[in-house]
Amino acid sequence: MKIQEADARTLLVAQGLPVPPWAVARTPAEAGDAAARFLADGAGRVVIKAQVLVGGRGKAGGVRLAGSPAEAEDVAGRILGMDIKGITVRKVLVGPAAVIVKELYLGAILDRASRRIVLMASAEGGVEIEEVARVTPEAIHRASVHPLLGLLDYQARALAFGIGLGGPNLREFVRIAKGLVATMRANDADLVEVNPLAVVRERGPEGQVERLACLDAKITLDDSALPRHPELERLRDLDEEDPADAEARHYDISFIHLDGTIGCMVNGAGLAMTTMDLVKRAGGEPANFLDIGGGAKADRVAAAMRLILADPGVDAILVNIFGGITRGDEVARGLIEARSRQEREVPMVVRIVGTNAEEAARLLEEARFETAATLDEVAEKAVGASRRAAGGAP
Ligand code: GDP
Ligand code: MN
Repeated sequence: MKIQEADARTLLVAQGLPVPPWAVARTPAEAGDAAARFLADGAGRVVIKAQVLVGGRGKAGGVRLAGSPAEAEDVAGRILGMDIKGITVRKVLVGPAAVIVKELYLGAILDRASRRIVLMASAEGGVEIEEVARVTPEAIHRASVHPLLGLLDYQARALAFGIGLGGPNLREFVRIAKGLVATMRANDADLVEVNPLAVVRERGPEGQVERLACLDAKITLDDSALPRHPELERLRDLDEEDPADAEARHYDISFIHLDGTIGCMVNGAGLAMTTMDLVKRAGGEPANFLDIGGGAKADRVAAAMRLILADPGVDAILVNIFGGITRGDEVARGLIEARSRQEREVPMVVRIVGTNAEEAARLLEEARFETAATLDEVAEKAVGASRRAAGGAP
C-alpha cells in the first residue's frame, strides 16, 4: 500500500527524522491560511505540493513555491484539480520552503534476493533513482543491513563519504540513515525513500548553518503485514484506490488485474496459477488472477463475477473450482445468481469438482451453463469462446 507524502512524513517524524513542518489543505483558502502561518513564523517562501500517489510531481508542475498568502492561494488553486499521470489532485501539502544547497538521495528497500533491508544513497538527488541506476549505476552507494545488528555506524559513514558528505553533516546523516531503517522496521514497509534528502541553509543563532532535511517522503507498506499495524489502515487513500481493489479487499478475494481476455475465477492460489498456465497453453491470455479463497459463499462468488465483468477486456469467463471446504453447490448457486444480474452477456465455462460436485452439476445443467470435466477441456473451451467473441477463427 502506498501512502501520501504527508502521512509518510508523519512516520519519519515518529522516528526522529528532520522533516520541516507542514499542513495539508483541500482548498485554495486553506492553503492560503497555512501559508500565512508559515510566513509569519519566519519562512521566506512556502512550498506547495500536490498530494498524489505518483512520483515526478515536480516535473509535472505539482510542486511550486509562493512568496505570500495570496500567491499561495493562487498556486494551490492551480494545483488542486490538476491531473498528474491520470490522477486528480484533491489535496496539497503546504510548508516553509527550504533553501536548498544540494539535493541527495537516500532510500531503503526490502531486498528480497538478500532478504535484508538495503540502503541506497546517491549524490544525484531530485532525480528518479531508476534513472540514476540506468545512466550512472556507479553513482549509487549501497549498504546491506544485518537483521540482528542493524545498520552499523561505519556503514552509514561509508555511504555519507560516498555521496560527498563530511564535517558536521556526517553525524546527522548517520542518524537519518538509521532512522530510515527504523521506519522500515517499525511499519513493516518495503520502501522508504527520501528524495531529495537536502542540504539546506538555515539561519541559526550563530549565523548561517547547513543542515540535512527530508524534503520528500515516499513509503510503501507491505500489504501482508498490515494486519500487524491496524493504526496504519486509516492511511489508505480511498480517493486514489482502484474501486476493483477496494471491492476485492472487502470480500477477501485475491485479485490481480492482467491484460488478457479470459476472466478466471478459481479457488486456491496454486490452482489459480495452474489455470492461468493452462489458458496460456491453450493459446489464450488470462485477464486476471483471482482466488476466491476457501469456503467461498454465494455472495463472494457474485462479487468475483462483478470484478471480472468490470474489466471491458474480458470476453470469456473460466470458472475452475476444486471443492474441499468450498462446496460446489454453493459456488453453482452464486454463479446462477450472478448471471441473472449480469449486465453484459459473456460466455462462461464452468468446471466444479470435489465436494458436492454432483449437486453443482445438476444446478448448472438446469440453468443451461456450459460445463467441462477436465482442466484441459475447461481451458480449451474458454479460449475457443474468447476467440469466437473476438471474431477470430473458432
Ligand atoms: P517529486 O517530484 O514528486 O519527487 O516531488 P519532490 O517533493 O521531490 O519535489 C520536487 C522538487 O521540488 C525537488 O527535487 C526540489 O528541487 C523542489 N523542492 C521541493 N521542496 C522544496 C523546498 O522546500 N524548497 C525548494 N527551493 N525546492 C523544493
Ligand atoms: Mn521526490
